[in-house]
Amino acid sequence: MRRDRNPSEARLRSVARKHKPKGWTVRERDVPFEVFTTLGSAVHHERRIETLPLTDRQGLFVFLHECGHVHCKHGARSDLPRWQEEYEAECYAIDAMHAAGIAVPRLPLQEGRHNVAAQIPADATDIPARVLQFAYGRKWRDHE
Ligand SMILES: [Zn+2]
Repeated sequence: MRRDRNPSEARLRSVARKHKPKGWTVRERDVPFEVFTTLGSAVHHERRIETLPLTDRQGLFVFLHECGHVHCKHGARSDLPRWQEEYEAECYAIDAMHAAGIAVPRLPLQEGRHNVAAQIPADATDIPARVLQFAYGRKWRDHE
């Protein structure tokens, strides 16, 4: 399937609306992409998602990742390991982009892979293969 690489802002916002958790507010902040760790967050106790502006695919991807954290019930009351939460949020964002027919932007996806990899403890032995493949790509077997 051919995926849209240049969706209009109206289309991006319509996809975002479908995924916004009920009762949550959204704050769009324009921060430089390089400062990735501050690009998005789900502030659970205030029910607020902070994200890049929903004006391009990168902004939508960051937003959908944070929606994934909310919809998958991550946050303070979750006892899942961090690698699993980040992996689930990435999957949520990727699936949502695919379902909308919009191409997944390369840069935030790459950051997402690094993010998952960074959360996997060096001595972990029980990480599912699909997570290792996502985090490490072709070299995933080195981390089994
Ligand atoms: Zn995350």
